[in-house]
Amino acid sequence: MRAPTLKIEHACYVVTLDGERRIIQDGSILVEGQRISRVGKAAELADAPADRLIDARHLLVTPGFVNGHMHISYAHAVRGIFLDDLGSPLPYVFRLQMAMTEEEEYYTTLLGLVELLKSGTVGFVDPGSTKFPDACLQAYEDAGIRVILGECVADREAPFPLPRYGTEEAIARTASFVRKWDGRLHGRIRAWAMPFSPETCSADLLGGLKRLADEHGTGLTLHHGSGPAARRESLARYGLRPTEYLESSGVLGPNVLLSHVLGLDDAEIECLARTGTAVAMCPVTAAKGAKGIAALGRMPELLQRGVRVALGSDSPNNSNHLDMVRTMNMAAIQYKDARQDMHQIPAEQALEMATLIGAQALGLGHELGSIAPGKRADLVLFDTQRPEWQALFNPVNNLVYNADGHSVHTVVVDGRVVVDAYRQSFVEEARLFARVQEIGERLLARTGVTLPRSRWPIV
Ligand SMILES: [Zn+2]
Repeated sequence: MRAPTLKIEHACYVVTLDGERRIIQDGSILVEGQRISRVGKAAELADAPADRLIDARHLLVTPGFVNGHMHISYAHAVRGIFLDDLGSPLPYVFRLQMAMTEEEEYYTTLLGLVELLKSGTVGFVDPGSTKFPDACLQAYEDAGIRVILGECVADREAPFPLPRYGTEEAIARTASFVRKWDGRLHGRIRAWAMPFSPETCSADLLGGLKRLADEHGTGLTLHHGSGPAARRESLARYGLRPTEYLESSGVLGPNVLLSHVLGLDDAEIECLARTGTAVAMCPVTAAKGAKGIAALGRMPELLQRGVRVALGSDSPNNSNHLDMVRTMNMAAIQYKDARQDMHQIPAEQALEMATLIGAQALGLGHELGSIAPGKRADLVLFDTQRPEWQALFNPVNNLVYNADGHSVHTVVVDGRVVVDAYRQSFVEEARLFARVQEIGERLLARTGVTLPRSRWPIV
């Protein structure tokens, strides 16, 4: 049977992210089945018929965005409740997440998927926050999104309630998770090892999970930070910097994605470059959480050393939004300010991290991240008929500095149109929003989390 074809015709710009970084004006893209078969000037593709035609005269096309660190199940239902003067919301977040039922997780996941897709994200890494993947499978299938899943494990005491097991048990659980989930939904689901962090996992567990990831041809992600205090402590304890400690435990390598990675020094960056390890950085979380990008942010040096850097939004109570366009914007502007140097992280580099480099960081660079024949058809079509897109001379600057995810008009994942002229069709939104609000109220009542809802009186 012939694969269905989709043609995106006369796009005002196609920002390809191909080897030459071509931006094609008046461009067309032909999709056959799940893959892109042709890309070029509209005139060159004029003779190509298709089952479905999208007139993209006012639309600008980019590759789909990937989110390298996004806890879809960390308290979406109470988003916004943590006041700025609360300090770390983490103890509350874990308490609420532990209390979530299967049904509650399903609906809050649906909300996350609606938000991700409607702002152009086609795939994300959920670093082990989903407790009930069986229940959420239907949501992933209906939404048509890509997801990298795993079971969060730890084998040491933590300052917050994490799923803790014996070392061997944690490895065995991960092995059966990977066997069960990896490659499902026609390969849109990948299953990785997901130890929480070096502080909450022994070297034996981390090393064991890395070997398991290697054996199964899959990945591993964990939270990782450094900085002067952590470095002093690690040097005193192991004679190694925190990142060197991971290397010596056999944890680093090309199939490993470390998240946040603030506070690295030059030796630690070398360590990541040498081992080919990838990272996911969360610029909005870092800024909102007052992490100190000027002192601790090393994104420019990581990129310079060829480390693959993905962007992440972290949990909906850290950045509070999942919008990769706003995330690109933050990545591009925060280093300019932190270094008082406008050369830092140009708009083009921010877009690369959200697409091609991000896909490479997730081990998906051969399939995703650019608009080229043979690649998976994961595409975002931005509506340029909006005030914030005017005037349009430089598509990448306008995308990163003017726009946000609200101008995402249409999204294609694996050749399937999942957002069509601003609409998704896998869930009824008004009902879903009411349900999630209800879930939030119930969750707060059930867990006894009684935080003031606002600094100002709500009357
Ligand atoms: Zn995280």
